[in-house]
Amino acid sequence: MYEVTGRINGKARESANRMPISDKFTDTVAGQLHIASEADIDEALSSASVARTEAPLTSHDRADILRKAARLLADHSDELAEQQRVEAGFTVADGRREVDRAIETMLLSADEAIRFGGESVPLGSAPNTKNRMGITIRKPIGVVAAITPFNSPVNTIAHKIGPALAAGNAVVLKPAEQTPSPGNVLADVLFEAGLPAQWMHVVHGPGETVGAALVADDRSDYIAFTGSTATGAAIHRSAGLRKTQLELGSISCTVVAQDAVIDKGMLANTANAAFRKAGQVCTSIQRIYVHRDVEQQFTEAFLATTGALHVGDPSDSKTTVGPLISSQATDRVEAWIKEAVASGAELLIGGTREGTVIQPTVLRGVKPGMKMHDLEAFGPVVCIYTYENDNEVIDEINSTPYGLASGVFTHNLDRALNLANRLDVGTLHVNGTSSSRVDIMPYGGLKASGHGIEGPAYAVKDMSLETLLSLEWT
Ligand code: NAD
Repeated sequence: MYEVTGRINGKARESANRMPISDKFTDTVAGQLHIASEADIDEALSSASVARTEAPLTSHDRADILRKAARLLADHSDELAEQQRVEAGFTVADGRREVDRAIETMLLSADEAIRFGGESVPLGSAPNTKNRMGITIRKPIGVVAAITPFNSPVNTIAHKIGPALAAGNAVVLKPAEQTPSPGNVLADVLFEAGLPAQWMHVVHGPGETVGAALVADDRSDYIAFTGSTATGAAIHRSAGLRKTQLELGSISCTVVAQDAVIDKGMLANTANAAFRKAGQVCTSIQRIYVHRDVEQQFTEAFLATTGALHVGDPSDSKTTVGPLISSQATDRVEAWIKEAVASGAELLIGGTREGTVIQPTVLRGVKPGMKMHDLEAFGPVVCIYTYENDNEVIDEINSTPYGLASGVFTHNLDRALNLANRLDVGTLHVNGTSSSRVDIMPYGGLKASGHGIEGPAYAVKDMSLETLLSLEWT
């Protein structure tokens, strides 16, 4: 049984108030999480608020710390993968990928710490403006409150704290209560890399209490949140006029056009994008739209690829699809599959459940009115739909309440550009699935998928204030 404490002013902070941390595959208690008190949150925010005056850091210092922390993170790869195996139920490969990507995100953030700045503005547009010019100055926004989800317990944290620190902000982090350990490792490597203690704090506990208290406090100048649309909406209401970055839910779609190259690589890529982390990725493929000319060819091959996936214990190196985050989440996904089938959908493969593991499932004939159609599944389930023309598929994808990312397999440039211009999504991947993100990209959603932008070069701007200096001379 292990214990996870908070980090306040660089030191472990214990609490008498604790909650269990479960092993997601065995569904048994593995550890105890120390829940931050109101006094802990107050202390973290007070200290973070004075970080820039009490322990000033130049942009050179911040870049140097982020670079060192990225190098140190690599030394913790095995430990972080093991934490994620227990707390998130991730396979070792998925856990290591989180760490590799977080290293990349921290290095990209280090680059931004030194590159980040304003711009010159030509002020000659109004009549009679002679001898005037403008320069914008970028300044830190203050304290960034970072609240992160269970399904990306390392890299999503890196995407919040990397750019926040690069822009000169202090951070108070509240990791998901299901997967709390990696947040402490990230804080500790930053301290080891030279980050002064006032600049970063970790408060743990349930979102409804600890997360909500962090958001409600006006000393949180900027709320960087990734999680469900319902939580994002609650945070948005509580934040009032303060800035928010809300990376929310999705029903992500991938299109297989009539000219798609359906080969082994494409099939493996598509199955991975649908079932990796048991489908608990915001950009996981929930819907595949297949052109009717290739429907039979694609569906047969995709089912064969899905059937060959190794499912179950994440500690088995052959496993590619592990458990869901809780027995409640497993119950929900199982019930949605059953509801779809009872209402006329066809179960092509999967649908069975053992403990918290659901076999990768492919459905056909899923229709509006079924939960599996209307809501975000966040489980290892893909629904195949057939279409005849591009207008139809564009209308279908745009009819979801979300707008995060889509993919299209096509080599037809007209089709790709038409989709890119007409789909209401933050990203369209051509010859890739909806889940083809790399960390340098600007990344954010539209509609119920939220607002604000990730990607270090873009997030540093959002996490800063801009003042225009207007200069006139004679
Ligand atoms: P969640 O909304 O339940 O929790 C996310 C975080 O918010 C946790 O740390 C939680 O403790 C906290 N929280 C919960 N209620 C809160 C409140 N009232 N005030 C403040 N904080 C609160 O989400 P989850 O189940 O951990 O993650 C799954 C969701 O996240 C899915 O909908 C998925 O699509 C989404 N997601 C989106 C992206 C993206 O980039 N758009 C990435 C990953 C996950």
